[in-house]
Amino acid sequence: MLRNDQLDQWDRDSFFHPSTHLAEFARGNLPQRVVTGGSGCYIQDRDGTRLLDAFAGLYCVNVGYGRSEIADAIAEQAKELAYYHAYMGHGTEASITLAKMILDRAPSHMSRVYFGLSGSDANETNIKLVWYANNILGRPEKKKIISRWRGYHGSGLVTGSLTGLELFHKKFDLPLPPVLHTQAPYYFRRPDRSMSEADFVTHCVTELEQLIETQGADTIAAFIGEPVLGTGGIVPPPDGYWPAIQAVLDKHDILLIADEVVTGFGRLGSMFGSDHYGMRPDIMTIAKGLTSAYAPLSGSIISEKLWSVLEQGTDENGPIGHGWTYSAHPVSAAAGVANLQLIDAQDLVAQAGAVGAYLNAAMADALKGHPHVGEVRGEGMLCAVELVRDADASVFFGADEKVGPRVAAHMLEHAKVIARAMPQGDILGFAPPFCLTKGQADEIVAATVQAIAATLQ
Ligand code: PMP
Repeated sequence: MLRNDQLDQWDRDSFFHPSTHLAEFARGNLPQRVVTGGSGCYIQDRDGTRLLDAFAGLYCVNVGYGRSEIADAIAEQAKELAYYHAYMGHGTEASITLAKMILDRAPSHMSRVYFGLSGSDANETNIKLVWYANNILGRPEKKKIISRWRGYHGSGLVTGSLTGLELFHKKFDLPLPPVLHTQAPYYFRRPDRSMSEADFVTHCVTELEQLIETQGADTIAAFIGEPVLGTGGIVPPPDGYWPAIQAVLDKHDILLIADEVVTGFGRLGSMFGSDHYGMRPDIMTIAKGLTSAYAPLSGSIISEKLWSVLEQGTDENGPIGHGWTYSAHPVSAAAGVANLQLIDAQDLVAQAGAVGAYLNAAMADALKGHPHVGEVRGEGMLCAVELVRDADASVFFGADEKVGPRVAAHMLEHAKVIARAMPQGDILGFAPPFCLTKGQADEIVAATVQAIAATLQ
């Protein structure tokens, strides 16, 4: 075992951490937490500190830590066959079984699953497939993709462009030109306080229609959205939003990509967000909850309609020129099979719905009327607390005050509860593992109330 100071030095000198202030980290001004273990909803660091992980890693360890069923499946697969590729018709029992299990759970019009490694690469695949399909259909001008401000779809070149958060664009020369952004369905931050929810839905839909009209529907290939905005603030859509958006897309022959990286496999208390909100996607992006992050794996679930165009494309052009070395990696696929079996066996989707509803109700109740809480919102096992300077007048804090990060830091230090300060706005995000108990939900609520009081007194 390495000495702590040695490991800390190597960490500062060798390791490029994602989404981190690089200079401050190198100078030793940021906390360095070396995580050594996890069980249920808790992780433990090398100092023996036990933390209640109310964000399930990055909302991905859905079944909780330390599940030996998944660990054993990974070990068995690695011993039997650690790797073989999936090119040119090759496969493994694990990857084939997992594709079948995913389709058994997906909406009935979905037809095939392409496997990747991360949510970002899956969305990259999706955009390529949409472009390919429109070339096959003889409409090469129909290529633009509409995303929403505050959407999160990855950190690659196209996917970082789809992401509608300034931090992910600034100094990277993004977004790239084929990507356009429209209004997020964020009712709390509606442009005019007097708008009803229904007015606001009409406002979002009108803005989308105007964008389509200005650009020309014959230049727009697809619309991508998360059923519930995640990283952009954990924002469930207002009633009627998705059916209204779907109607506009259908009218203009624009494909819908439902990015279910966070919502897929139960986080909303339904198997998919598309089921939950009555969306009819042409492609669904899945990752995180597919393996509960026990191994990296993502997927693009393709509708029958799109699949038939892809088949036509290969009849005309030969094998599809798209593939990763690690597509359908057998070890990750084995983790996926074991994970989905565990979710079924323990009825974890229902538990996410029930305990998530309890967490949301308890949080809303505890913070009702708080002068600095603008909104408590959520769906299933997703919950957010939006902090504001003045709840009555809806005045926000300045970004430089870092209120969200300070409250989250207080929770971590004093209550040993991990909440996530979402990257844009003073929003505390909660997305615990589905095995959360009501007692642990109460702990999260108490820690939140206490940290807000201590930080904003
Ligand atoms: N889509 C959504 C909705 C996500 O939340 C994320 C990651 N938080 C991604 C895509 C990108 O996934 P990854 O980080 O695995 O590339």
